[in-house]
Amino acid sequence: MPEKVKRWFRRGEGLLTEWLYPRAANCLCCGDPRRAETTDCLCPRCRKALREQRVPPQACNRCLSPVRRGVPCAFCASPLMRPIEKVFAPFRYRREVRRLIHAYKFGACGEALPTLCDAMADALPDRAFDCLTPVPLHPRRLRQRGFNQALGLCEGLNQRTGIPIEELLIRTRYHRPQSRLPLRRRGANVTGAFAVEGDAKGKRILLVDDVRTSGSTAHACARALMKAGAESVCLCVAAVVYRKK
Ligand SMILES: [Zn+2]
Ligand SMILES: [Zn+2]
Repeated sequence: MPEKVKRWFRRGEGLLTEWLYPRAANCLCCGDPRRAETTDCLCPRCRKALREQRVPPQACNRCLSPVRRGVPCAFCASPLMRPIEKVFAPFRYRREVRRLIHAYKFGACGEALPTLCDAMADALPDRAFDCLTPVPLHPRRLRQRGFNQALGLCEGLNQRTGIPIEELLIRTRYHRPQSRLPLRRRGANVTGAFAVEGDAKGKRILLVDDVRTSGSTAHACARALMKAGAESVCLCVAAVVYRKK
């Protein structure tokens, strides 16, 4: 085949691939452009996987931890849940869910946010909250990251539910990222790290974060809000971590 025709073929092939699988259609979870649908940021396989990673119906109905039938929930009995009335979350934090949250937090990808917020809004009960309050970042961390992922989720939830956002919390201490600490040291790391700035009195607050790992960040935030006179604090996250027992 003459070189000119070969070149023409290669160019045609490239254009066809671009047309069939536009770059924007890469699946956010597995990154595969070929299996992605242009109307969805996830490929059908990952979309199905997300459905399989939903919090199972047999989880504790207050804190969403795995429980055995007839056995009282150990996490609910721990001091970590004391200031938190109830937890709402669509997913368990694993594989595709982790990648999706990662794409949202670190990839500055605008497409992951609607997927997460749709699922979070679906997981919320039909009950009244006075405000959505994001878990705050320390200003230093905010400068590093450029945005507060919890506030972004609040904005998405506000659009879907109409519940107003009130940034009632501030971080008073810079501390090491929780993700780099062993679970047993996370509590001490955030104790007293939050203060209430604004009026929490008498409010039914829905605290919002991306992931509940050990539960100590949410606990520290909820404790500060209850101390400031909140009527109740519930927690809404995109995903909860199931610890291996
Ligand atoms: Zn995929
Ligand atoms: Zn529980």
